[in-house]
Amino acid sequence: MYNKVIASNNNNDCEVEEFIIKLNTENLSAFLSYRDEGNMNIVVSVNSQENEEKRVIRFKKILADDKAKCLDFADHKHELINFVNFEQLLQKYFDNADKFTVVPKIVFLDVDVTDLNNFLKHDRPVSRQKAVIGSNFGLLYRDVAFLPKEIYTGNQPVNGTFKDTSTFCIEIKAKQGYLINDEETLCVRKCRYCFYQYLKLKNEKINSVSSYCPIDLFSGTPERINRAIKGLMKNPQNNFKVFCDGKIVYNEYLKCQSSLHKILTNLFPNVERTERKEILFVSLIRKILLKDFSFCDKNVEVSSFDDDDENIHLRNCSMYEAWKSLPTNCILNSILKTQLLVSENFSEMEILDKSKEPINYDVNDQTILQNYKIGSTALDCSIMLTFRRTTPTITTSECVNDTNHYITLKGPRGFYENFIVNATIVDLDLKKDSIAHFRKYKKQYHESKLAYFDFMEKHSKQNN
Ligand SMILES: [Zn+2]
Repeated sequence: MYNKVIASNNNNDCEVEEFIIKLNTENLSAFLSYRDEGNMNIVVSVNSQENEEKRVIRFKKILADDKAKCLDFADHKHELINFVNFEQLLQKYFDNADKFTVVPKIVFLDVDVTDLNNFLKHDRPVSRQKAVIGSNFGLLYRDVAFLPKEIYTGNQPVNGTFKDTSTFCIEIKAKQGYLINDEETLCVRKCRYCFYQYLKLKNEKINSVSSYCPIDLFSGTPERINRAIKGLMKNPQNNFKVFCDGKIVYNEYLKCQSSLHKILTNLFPNVERTERKEILFVSLIRKILLKDFSFCDKNVEVSSFDDDDENIHLRNCSMYEAWKSLPTNCILNSILKTQLLVSENFSEMEILDKSKEPINYDVNDQTILQNYKIGSTALDCSIMLTFRRTTPTITTSECVNDTNHYITLKGPRGFYENFIVNATIVDLDLKKDSIAHFRKYKKQYHESKLAYFDFMEKHSKQNN
């Protein structure tokens, strides 16, 4: 099915692999399935055999009613080559990039794009159908909704079996994990994400403010990470999704108790009480987020947590010592360290924005712009946590944990629940213009703060 050719870009030294997939229009459903989409892209999964590595293709969207805007073949391919080169460059900036990031390949789907759009139409949300796939060229990724082949031997994990267990994948759009050091922030202690919630509320993009706070997630403190995860589960917005065997089973639109119940029962069939299952679920997510994949973690303790009904409008996004609180080799630390490039280059960006014409940028300026660009990419990335329960449940912790991808949780009645897990950073999208992003960032932050203070003022008037 794959036909590999090498594509090279005249302006770049690196060569980029290109795959061609030939498909029969009559039988697209045998090869492809709709996966998911955002504002900019549609993701399609490539159907594969049981023992093959699973893959997805990401296609850029264009407005459906604008035929003239159909992506130019050469331009779009050029854009994709730049994108792949940028993903290769990012490898140098993320700690443990070999473990946490995936570099895509360019793919050409040899099929009529209209046929492809018609085929996908039935599975796409109606609200998204204003835009469609605009080109045969896409990006081919390893499908992170499933575990990579190389982390277990053959079809089976080292201990236990995968029989009848589903693969789950949790997508977390974590957002900015540090506080901005300005007057308003110091005064009310709100982070960028939490301020922005009030702007979204004002613009009616959301119905209620989330209790999720990225500062909690990146804090390294188990209780605060638990609180962040529970906040995401309660009000997922576009920050939290659960996939089961590649299909979405929990997100903003599917957040009912019964869908969560199904997930928890599937993951913890030996655990009776729902609250107990939920504690194990949150612990599992937290453990993957903090996991160092370079060694075997033998710690199997599970912490319990209390529900806190704190008033989210008055709650502080309390600071912690950024990057010192997280385990060095975990995925959160890798993301946060890269995000901090934004704050480290912020004052220099201010100077560049105000004082210079692009034509006068020197080498030092280019470095600042580049660092800012890399950092801003990390602000908007998503974390994919993939895991699969191994059965039968092993009753002692003695014979598990022999690979770096095992996590063992202590369930009730002395049972140990074992999972093979993986973590990947995705949606590391190239921002075209650092200065434009910087201006938008500042404007949005300013408007978010105003929206928050407006909200609080109205709220206090209502209460008096
Ligand atoms: Zn916050």
